[in-house]
Amino acid sequence: MNDAHSMKQSQLFTKTRREAPKDEVSKNAQLLIRAGFVHKEMAGVYDLLPLGLRTFEKIVGIIREEMNGIGGQELSMTSLQRKELWEKTGRWSDEAVDVWFKSEFKTGGEVGFGWTHEEPLTALMREHISSYKDLPAYPYQFQTKFRNETRAKSGLMRTREFVMKDLYSFSKNENEHLKFYDACAAAYERIFARAGIGDKTYKTFASGGSFSKFSHEYQTVSEAGEDIIYINEAKKIAINKEVFTDEVKKDLGLGNDFTEAKSIEVGNIFTLGARFSEPLGLTYKDESGKDIPVFMGCYGIGPARLMATIAELLSDEKGLVWPESVAPFAVHLVELSNGNEDVKNEAAELYRELSEAGVEVLWDDRDARAGEKFADSDLIGIPLRVIVSEKTLAAGKFECVERGSGRTTHQSVSELISELTHA
Ligand code: ATP
Ligand code: MG
Repeated sequence: MNDAHSMKQSQLFTKTRREAPKDEVSKNAQLLIRAGFVHKEMAGVYDLLPLGLRTFEKIVGIIREEMNGIGGQELSMTSLQRKELWEKTGRWSDEAVDVWFKSEFKTGGEVGFGWTHEEPLTALMREHISSYKDLPAYPYQFQTKFRNETRAKSGLMRTREFVMKDLYSFSKNENEHLKFYDACAAAYERIFARAGIGDKTYKTFASGGSFSKFSHEYQTVSEAGEDIIYINEAKKIAINKEVFTDEVKKDLGLGNDFTEAKSIEVGNIFTLGARFSEPLGLTYKDESGKDIPVFMGCYGIGPARLMATIAELLSDEKGLVWPESVAPFAVHLVELSNGNEDVKNEAAELYRELSEAGVEVLWDDRDARAGEKFADSDLIGIPLRVIVSEKTLAAGKFECVERGSGRTTHQSVSELISELTHA
């Protein structure tokens, strides 16, 4: 195979490990480190290793598809930030923003490392928006944010350097804005459903910030979460503890039937109005030639926080359990040959056929004991394990075990291919 979509485990340079670093307290990071998905550089800073990068890229792929589907246009902005812009919005000082990483140019003057991108993008859009005909516009990116977080104990959920999908909407008025806001909310629901955490994720009313009364967070119920929400199960909606008052409950007509839960904020959507367009001078001329500030919104998701959330929610005592949509591979082909050439050849043939059918296979071709191979396979969490052994060779069918349910079936190559390619 030239195509890197399948691979032999003997060639994977990362190894699984029995123990995570002693200072690692969060379950998501412990599992992801042990399974060889990530490497810890320091508190709140992690590298993505090949398996982790594959899952991360799949999450990014889902988000990208959904953002493109609602009219998003991808770009990529820089991390280095011009002080002047942030002074205009009152967000340069460390008093106003407590997560800044800043540095200095050797030639003199301060520079910031972006922790979000409203300021530079609003300024950039001045070159592209002048008339009502230029609106709406929905630029977005997957871009590295730097945040000097003081709490960095939740593994990959809260890191000091992380990629964010940040989309910004530029609309003519509130009406046009709200249509997109709702479309984005629907896209977020599809993203979290596709990532396998839809049933545990609630659209949550949170404090609004600059323009609107509320913002919306997508909160996934988990004991590992740092937030507390109040869930109205009948409406599948929640309210963040920070705004949970009698007035808000009444306002939203949600009655009094709530259950409290700890949760992880996997994404959020904000109405910004003219909070940034006004100080940065982003206006457009309406049909009568009048200058109007552009009406903005912002929409964030942290793909690595999402990966960590999936790891927290769907894992078990043996390790990770990935949904098919974000698994690093679709099939873990475990060869138990004990030196038997026929078994080896059978595994090679299955690897070739599945790969040619477009199925992503990790082939454990290593010379190791069955127990060790199964433990690794459980830890890594690929959704389907296919075992090739003397026994399966004699039976003429492969033994297939679902990682999540443990359900075992016996299938031929063609049955497997039609199941895995949904043909
Ligand atoms: P939190 O309240 O958890 O600090 P936030 O309000 O700072 O989140 P935003 O700045 O709006 O969040 O970021 C958008 C998204 O980016 C969040 O919903 C989350 O998915 C992700 N995110 C935020 N901070 C981090 C972080 N430190 N590490 C990883 N992902 C993050
Ligand atoms: Mg934050």
